Amino acid sequence: MSGTVHIVGAGLGGLAAAVELADAGYGKIVFYEAAKAAGGRCRSFMDTVLNIVVDNGSHLLLSGNHQAVRYLTKIDGLKEMTVCEAEIPFADLKSGERWTLRPNSSRVPWWILDSSRRVPGTKATDYLAPLGLLRALNQSRLVGDVMDTKTTLYERLWRPVMLAALNVEPAEADAQVAITLFKETFGGGGAACKPIIAHQGMSSAYIDPAIAYLEPRGASFQYGRTLRGIDYEGERAAALDFGDEKIVVAPEDIVILAAPPVVARSYVPGLITPEKFKAIVNLHFKIAPPKGHPMYLGVVNSITEWLFSYDDHLSVTISAADEWMHHDREDLARKVWAEVSKITGLPEELPPWQVNRERRATFAAIPSETSRRPGPKTQYPNLFLAGDWTATGLPACMEGAIRSGNAAARAVLETAGANRSAA
Ligand SMILES: Cc1cc2nc3c(=O)[nH]c(=O)nc-3n(C[C@H](O)[C@H](O)[C@H](O)COP(=O)(O)OP(=O)(O)OC[C@H]3O[C@@H](n4cnc5c(N)ncnc54)[C@H](O)[C@@H]3O)c2cc1C
Repeated sequence: MSGTVHIVGAGLGGLAAAVELADAGYGKIVFYEAAKAAGGRCRSFMDTVLNIVVDNGSHLLLSGNHQAVRYLTKIDGLKEMTVCEAEIPFADLKSGERWTLRPNSSRVPWWILDSSRRVPGTKATDYLAPLGLLRALNQSRLVGDVMDTKTTLYERLWRPVMLAALNVEPAEADAQVAITLFKETFGGGGAACKPIIAHQGMSSAYIDPAIAYLEPRGASFQYGRTLRGIDYEGERAAALDFGDEKIVVAPEDIVILAAPPVVARSYVPGLITPEKFKAIVNLHFKIAPPKGHPMYLGVVNSITEWLFSYDDHLSVTISAADEWMHHDREDLARKVWAEVSKITGLPEELPPWQVNRERRATFAAIPSETSRRPGPKTQYPNLFLAGDWTATGLPACMEGAIRSGNAAARAVLETAGANRSAA
């Protein structure tokens, strides 16, 4: 294919688009990335306080995230990951109970008939509650309007799972997004619910292999390049403005804007995007987990929501964490460590710690925001959009970001095909 593909933003959305376009024959792809490295919200870095490599936030992928699995297979990132059994261990900090949810492999959920595979204190029929979401199909409704949120099962399973995936209090979330989520995970049976963990860090699985895949196929990466504007000429994007330099977009070139919605909104006239965001807070504790501790653990009745174990540290995720954004960091670390020490049996003394707070971790998956998600095409035939905030139907997640990149690539190829037929 002739023409350069200019991609602004080297997060998963931009990388996924590049992988597809390189495979389709585009031999020149240039990334312009504001940060010093690729990865965006899915990256690992050397923490200078702890002196170990940590992720900006622990990320869980499920086997039902098919386009992410396809991307990882293509770039050969899966070899850096652990595909776990379809089991989700939980701990209740208040009652001290522990249980492991074990969905069976097939779509017929016979596992809910087996109390040893269920959440304690629940019965088989409780598990049909997500079907209530179907009452909201194709309507703008909240999860809390169509799903019973007052049950033990909701508190012990549906709320923690949805909170992690939607990053908003589930009762207030857009039911459409929750339907898609359930359809592609629990709806696919245990085969779709196998956690896939990047045990050596996100970058080693999702980012570094993508760069290694793309560079020999003609991609180059320019870091520290912040887009400041786009010049338009008539119907097309004509130049990318980086403040100190303008990059000309030749008539046969393509631009993919794979940056956050605020950037896209600022530089694409008339574009409507989500405007409200939710935070995620991650805490890292430099201490080896006890032998045999699960790689991931859901925790209820606690500040800690998910606890991830790595060789040399433990990480805690708190979703929809806006209330903790301005809290004293050390106090938060102490509070959370007190919980982790109780769960793991590790000493109460606070180990070296770090708190990472991402204020705009994801757009808020509430109806007023999900209705503002654009598709991959813009009114400019040579300008396309990618990013987890575009109209993927999913919440902001890795599968969504990769799907958005794939959709942008498809739109580029469709447009190129249409232009060829017209010529
Ligand atoms: C703490 C945390 C935990 C998460 N946990 C999970 C999880 O468990 N499971 C899951 O599936 N998802 C999770 N996610 C969501 C997942 O990380 C995102 O959905 C995904 O990484 C988004 O990719 P993206 O390419 O759409 O956007 P981004 O990663 O935000 O990429 C956009 C890129 O554009 C760059 N950029 C911004 N402005 C400019 C500019 N002006 N010029 C040039 N470049 C620019 C940015 O630096 C960035 O690299 C989590 C996110 C966070 C923050």
